[in-house]
Amino acid sequence: MNYTSTRNSSISITAADAIVKGISDEGGLFVPAKMSELPKLTIDEITTMADKPYPERAYDVLRRFLDFGDDELRDCVNNAYNFNFKTIGTTRLVNLVDSIYMLELWHGPTAAFKDMALQILPGLMSISMRKASKTRKTLILVATSGDTGKAALEGFKDVGGIEIAVFYPEDGVSDTQKMQMITQEGENVHVFAVKGNFDDCQNAVKAVFTDSQVGDKAAAAGVAFSSANSINWGRLCPQIAYYISAYADLVQKKAIKPGDKINICVPTGNFGNILAAYYAMEIGLPINKLICASNTNKILTDFINTGVYDRNREFHTTASPSMDILISSNLERLLYHISGESDSLVSEWFIALKQTGKFEVGKELQKKMNSLFYGGWCSESETAETIKSVFNESGYLMDTHTAVGYKVLLDYLKTDNSGIKTLMVSTANPYKFGESVYEALYGEYNATEDAPVFYEDVADEFENDVPEGMTNEVNAEPTGVMKTLQDRTGIPAPKSLTSLNGKPIRFTETLSKEQIKDAVLKIIN
Ligand SMILES: *Cc1c(COP(=O)(O)O)cnc(C)c1O
Repeated sequence: MNYTSTRNSSISITAADAIVKGISDEGGLFVPAKMSELPKLTIDEITTMADKPYPERAYDVLRRFLDFGDDELRDCVNNAYNFNFKTIGTTRLVNLVDSIYMLELWHGPTAAFKDMALQILPGLMSISMRKASKTRKTLILVATSGDTGKAALEGFKDVGGIEIAVFYPEDGVSDTQKMQMITQEGENVHVFAVKGNFDDCQNAVKAVFTDSQVGDKAAAAGVAFSSANSINWGRLCPQIAYYISAYADLVQKKAIKPGDKINICVPTGNFGNILAAYYAMEIGLPINKLICASNTNKILTDFINTGVYDRNREFHTTASPSMDILISSNLERLLYHISGESDSLVSEWFIALKQTGKFEVGKELQKKMNSLFYGGWCSESETAETIKSVFNESGYLMDTHTAVGYKVLLDYLKTDNSGIKTLMVSTANPYKFGESVYEALYGEYNATEDAPVFYEDVADEFENDVPEGMTNEVNAEPTGVMKTLQDRTGIPAPKSLTSLNGKPIRFTETLSKEQIKDAVLKIIN
């Protein structure tokens, strides 16, 4: 199967080339060339997956999208999913109430759903680089709202032939997310704070991709750029698998009968996760509604309800920072598919978005979108109330992003009493956003004496050096808000997060947007 660009459908490249390049030269995103030619999974093929372990399920989905060798793809899924996740099934399904099943996707090494894709992307990238065989070195540039950065660093650390540079908004990530990134181990990793918000980071990084001066320098040094953001097809594709897999589990649990439709509710930022559910539907998953949940940055809610995408609005920093986004890149892929694969319309819209901050798709397309997508949003106080009421009623602890989704799902269910089962996608472990979760349950957290040394103070003091007396030996006991939250809720904090305490800080550089280009040039040299 070949891939084309959302902004130039005369392009036709292999999956390997799409993964190595990350983004098309004219700024479009790579998509399966013809949706009508996608292979279909039968209900029978889907449900029999329940008998197989997760790597096998992922293999069975991925092989339909990637023309890789059987053995290399099997190695890839085994390396990614066999040992790096804490639950036997890689993901976990929890029947919270009646018709709602939580699909926990955060049992990987960095405690957010992005591990599901970023544990396998390095493998896919290595195979793709071999196939494309033009480059000696690949430099992966990542703009992150917090979770992608860490998951990408963890996936790509010390992978041969690859360097990775991560840019995060200085004040746009949680303390835990920041600590995860600035303590990252590995010889091929670079981490920078950026003055600005996530969109600033993403725009600056996208600009580096197409900057001719950077391009020339990179070519001379034998370096090719790629991306680990969800604009990369190799990132999106593995996400399709867990929707198919979860459906198989629902059938096995007898929650649904083979062929029954389900809803899928996704806390959404860059539109990658929910788009993967859309692709799952296109290859045969029976879906009733895709519920797209936003926080106060509700640009997608407005778009789904009006057909107007307008980023000329205030940007809010919320307790669900991974959804603090005004440019949801992957929407471009959806619009390409539902506009009848029109590269000219998509180019028009996204050039308008760049120039005026706004575009409109018209009533007919909006209707089409509405038939499949429900858009809703959740305020900051509602996020906190949701965490608290769910915990008090059922003892289930949600992170802030998942809570946004849950509130929107409850709103949706007021409009639909069909009893159709819903997969509620849970995107992060609650301890990753411990302070906000604590505050939702018990009010503001007051640091006591056992609070960890505050990261920023340590960073200022020690610059890039490893503080004296600190080694990579880490303390796995929770401290500070993690400890108090654990003591009060009785729900254990994951080791991957508690072990951050006391880890040496390696990266303390803060850049302005304008300095990102120079930072990249320095890495190339
Ligand atoms: C990245 C992320 C999201 C948003 O996912 P998209 O694929 O960008 O829509 C939601 N929740 C968490 C915890 C995330 O890390």
